[in-house]
Amino acid sequence: MGAFCSVIPDLDVIGFRFGIRYGDFWGHRGFTHSLLFAALVASAAMFVGFRRVLPDLGRFPMWLYFFLATASHGLLDAMTDGGLGVAFFVPFDNHRYFLPWTPIRVSPIGVGRFFTDRGLAVLQSELLWIWLPTALLALSVWLMRRRAAPST
Ligand SMILES: [Zn+2]
Repeated sequence: MGAFCSVIPDLDVIGFRFGIRYGDFWGHRGFTHSLLFAALVASAAMFVGFRRVLPDLGRFPMWLYFFLATASHGLLDAMTDGGLGVAFFVPFDNHRYFLPWTPIRVSPIGVGRFFTDRGLAVLQSELLWIWLPTALLALSVWLMRRRAAPST
């Protein structure tokens, strides 16, 4: 569900087919990349999939997890080197933002354009700046949990 939440914001590319321009409210990196949308998706995820609380996990931590999973998409988009920025604060502020640090190569829109030299450069960039740190974080958490687990 968290992985699903993290990719939902890019459903906004469907708008290109209906004439919605990139910089519009419903445009790419617009409302679906906002913090309000992340809150709505997190609430929907809780409503649809987790009406009952999981053992040892409260409702708010679960909601926060889905919120952060969804919001992480916009945060990573704001670290890319192209396109328009991310409308984090829509509908209150339609300004598009980038983070001060943009090391990630922007991905081309459309599968066909992805299988090119530029697509390979994007993959290399994402491996370095997203997947490697994520793998190191996951490994660290796994090692800490393993160390903290009672020995048998
Ligand atoms: Zn996006």
